Parts: sequence; structure tokens; C-alpha cells
Amino acid sequence: MILHMGFDDMDSLSGGCTSYICALILERISELRVRFLDYPNLIRLNPNVPWKTKGNGAICLRIETDEGLGDLEEAVVDIVERSADLGDPRTSPGIVFFPGDVPREIEEFSERALFDLVSPSSAVRLLRSHGGEAIGFKGGRGIVGGLAAIGNRLLGDHTFELIAYRARENYGKRRRVDPGSVERMDRLTSPMTFNNLDRGSGRILITPRGPDPVLAGIRGESPQVLFEAFSMLRIGEPVERWVLFRTNQGTDAHLRARFEIGRLRPFRSVCVEGSVSSPPRVIAGGHVIFKLSDGTGEIDCAAYEPTGDLNKAARLLAVGDLIRAYGGVRRASKGHPRTINLEKIEVLRLARVLELRNPKCPSCGRGMESAGRGQGYRCRRCGTAAKEKVAIEIPRAISPGLYLASPRGHRHLTKPLSRYGLEKAGGCGPPIAPFFGLGPPPARAP
Ligand SMILES: [Zn+2]
Repeated sequence: MILHMGFDDMDSLSGGCTSYICALILERISELRVRFLDYPNLIRLNPNVPWKTKGNGAICLRIETDEGLGDLEEAVVDIVERSADLGDPRTSPGIVFFPGDVPREIEEFSERALFDLVSPSSAVRLLRSHGGEAIGFKGGRGIVGGLAAIGNRLLGDHTFELIAYRARENYGKRRRVDPGSVERMDRLTSPMTFNNLDRGSGRILITPRGPDPVLAGIRGESPQVLFEAFSMLRIGEPVERWVLFRTNQGTDAHLRARFEIGRLRPFRSVCVEGSVSSPPRVIAGGHVIFKLSDGTGEIDCAAYEPTGDLNKAARLLAVGDLIRAYGGVRRASKGHPRTINLEKIEVLRLARVLELRNPKCPSCGRGMESAGRGQGYRCRRCGTAAKEKVAIEIPRAISPGLYLASPRGHRHLTKPLSRYGLEKAGGCGPPIAPFFGLGPPPARAP
């Protein structure tokens, strides 16, 4: 029997972590008679939903087994009940079991969950009609992510993340990963690894903040490069266990749906093409706002200060520029209209920016001056007269092309500049390297 198991919504602010619970589940079920058909899949979903905890990530394990469903279910539910932080009001864990091949309707549900809001009731309905099972705790919103993870088999572009976990006694303490070793690892392995640090600010990105069990996660293109990269880190605390995930991180999977401005809905992740219809203005905090219109409507676009390079690019736009804006739709709130929170822009065509200036004297080349209101212009030196100002084309400080947020402003799904050209096509076979274990990961795949 082929079985897909999806999990979601076990992250909590006090340190619960879906991926860590996945590590425990992997260890437990590998004692049963199971064969893993893929690396554990870490599927990031629409990052612009209102209720995400940390990253809106769900997990799917795909196995072949002779075990009865009952034993597997019991093992998994037992771990979730003991490990998930069910006391945190924000967690709403869900576990989904789906036997057999993944039907087209569940794939479509997953595609939708990348950019839209989908409801637990629609997930449960879909699951019932195809013969799967769901166990939800506390409302079971995690059933949505669990099912969406099952339906996303990462058949196109994908990446890997090697996550190492801390010993429990270190939860909440500063992570002892030497920043110099991260810089060196980045230098030696980039672009086959990505978002190790934000080069602009020097901020280390492989270590999260907060009380969760994750010590560090390195993202990259293959299992091999991640093992090597991890072995380059100097770490001053024990590594309790590790898991290697195959993921949709760094692929922009959430920004594929194109919408007209008139048809935008809050909380969707969208791509919109239109013309800049108001000059960018910088507001308190350094954020930049401009309007975009496409004939079906007009909407504010915001490039927040932490988006760095994107914020700088947005300042240079001008009315009439044709762009594609990518980001999440924030709903209107008191004093703020509905807004696209930008994640990237593609400048397709620049408008000519003209400025009216006093004419130059055709006889002697000197700048002319106003001859009085409504009187045109006159050259002081030779007396030549002219009627009107002249339009001068102002050179633009931005070129057509792609402008992304700086790495510190990236979502998990954001495709970093270094990945353009590295996109993969066509899935992945069964795992060839080990993909979880106790202690630190091996320095290379055996
Ligand atoms: Zn003159």
C-alpha cells in the first residue's frame, strides 16, 4: 500500500515545531516495515494568510508499507499528542492519511493553497470524496495544510533544506553557530546553497530567532551540497537530530497566479500587471507606497523598508512605468486602503519622464528668464525672446528588469536572485541519501 501522510499547524510561539515533530515521526515509523518513496516534503503554503504562525509550512511523508493503517495512525497520533503544543491557542494541528495515487482534484486543491485562502471544510469534503482520513485537533485547521502537502508532489522546481535541531536544555538560549563559519560556508557553496546570510546587513539567516527547537537550516539545490555545507559550520552546542527535507522553498511557487486588479481578494498571493499611476511616496519608517492601475481598477502597492533593494527600486518608479507587481494582498483597514505588500517587481517598460524648463537662448546659448507673467521668456544678454518652456527628458535611474527584496526580507517561498537559472524540472526519485538521524548529519552522503 502507498500512503501519504500530511501534517500541519503544530508550530507555536512557545516552541512547538511541525518539522521537529516530523523528525520524531520519521524515527518512529522507520521502525515499522515502511519504505520511503521520497524525502520528507516540506511544503510552504500561501504566506499571506492571516493566521500563519511562523512560516505556514506543512509536511508530507510518502511511504510504501505492508503495515495496517491502524498501527501507523496510532504511532503518528501518539507522537503528535505528546509533542505538539496543544495548549497554545494558535496551534490547530491536523493529520491527513491518504492511501494510493494522489488524484487530480487534490493536486488542484494544493495549487490553490499556494496563493489563496482555502477552508478546512473544503479540505475535509475533498478528502471524504476520495477516501482519505483526517484527524484534527482544536478545530483542525492543519487539515488544510496536511492535504495541501499531500497534493503537492514537487514535480517541478524544488530545493532542499537540511535542518538540525537543538538539545532540549538549550531551547530559548542563544544559538551557538559561529558567524564566521557561516560566511565561509556561504562563500564556498553559494549559489548551490542560498539565503545563508543577508550580505547587505551581514545578518545570519540559517539560524532562526525564538524558542523553537531548530538550531540551523541550510537551503540548497541538492542533498550533497547541504551535507558538505553543514560540515563547514563551527557549532558550539550539541546537535540532537537532523532531517533533510525536499521543499518548494525558494521557488516563488506562490506568485504564479495572475490577477486583474478589479478581481483581487485579501490574503491572496498575486501577480498583477499594470502601470504606475501615482508617484512613489516615502512614508514614515522609510516605506514606499505607489498606486498601480490596469484598467480594471487601481490599488496601492507597498515596498516596506525591510525589503531593502526592492524598497530602493520602488522609489525610482515613475507614473506610466509598466510593471508586474508580485506580493500579498492586505485587506483594507482603518486609514489604509487595500494594498499589495510587494515581494518583487518586474519593470517591463519605463515611461519617458519629462520636465519643463526655461528655454536656452537660440542665439547665444544662455539660459533664458521669464519676461513676466504670460510674457514668455527673454535672453538677458542678447534680448532674444521665446514663448514657451521646453520639455527636457530626465534620465531614469532604474532599468527594465527584476527587483527583489533583500534576503532578510524574504519569505520561505521567495526565489532568491541566485536561483534564477537553477530551476529544476521534473520531480525527484526515491531518496538516495539518508535523510534523518540522531546527532549531527554526516559530512557527506554515503
Ligand atoms: Zn541670447
